[in-house]
Amino acid sequence: MAFKLQYIDHVPQEQNAYAEYGSHCHSLLERWAKGELLSFELADRYEAEYDEAVRHYFPPFPRGLAGKYFEEGKQYFLSFDGFGEDMEILSVEERFELDIRGNPFVGIADLVLRDRRDGGIIVIDHKSKSMQSMKKELFANTRQLYTYAAYVKERFGEYPSMLRFNMFRYGTFIDEPFSMDRYDETMDWIDQTIRAIKEEKDWLVSSSGYFCRFICSTRLHCPVGEEIIHSGIKE
Ligand code: SF4
Repeated sequence: MAFKLQYIDHVPQEQNAYAEYGSHCHSLLERWAKGELLSFELADRYEAEYDEAVRHYFPPFPRGLAGKYFEEGKQYFLSFDGFGEDMEILSVEERFELDIRGNPFVGIADLVLRDRRDGGIIVIDHKSKSMQSMKKELFANTRQLYTYAAYVKERFGEYPSMLRFNMFRYGTFIDEPFSMDRYDETMDWIDQTIRAIKEEKDWLVSSSGYFCRFICSTRLHCPVGEEIIHSGIKE
């Protein structure tokens, strides 16, 4: 249902604290990568701009979410020292348009680096998601990076050697060495998914009241979301 409301009906989008938090951290990393901020300036900018950037409240449960997210971001930027001395920045937040099996496809790649030691290209996506939800659906999540691999091939003439999620709240990476089999599987999956969406008639609603109430960007324009918000149902 959310897909239909967002991409077909084009209803106005509602923000949420998770998305605003992620955008704030992305913005700082983007400005660093473009040379607009230095590493040692990031923690101060993070704090100074936080209230303006994260305007929605975090959900009240699990308890202490707002403080936890703020502190994790602060610690990350306090200790931030780039992505390695041997890395050359090739592109930053570059929007791309691709043709995938005859389907137009648009995306934005957070950061593309070249490792000067072996010449390999590394695609990085900054993630504010929990480690638990990333690992639970890792196979599906890495498909996103394989679409960026298609952009890298078109833009730089070669496939990346490494796909990397920057799990910045944890100060760690999830790495997946590039696999041509997985790349082909992702291209097939995108093609099949787009075909399925074009033929979809019964748009399913989410089974998560938490998602509808606090996260869904179209929740104010969906009967299910409106009902949950007004009834106060939490899960
Ligand atoms: S409010 Fe829930 S059911 Fe409605 S579009 Fe959003 S996720 Fe789907």
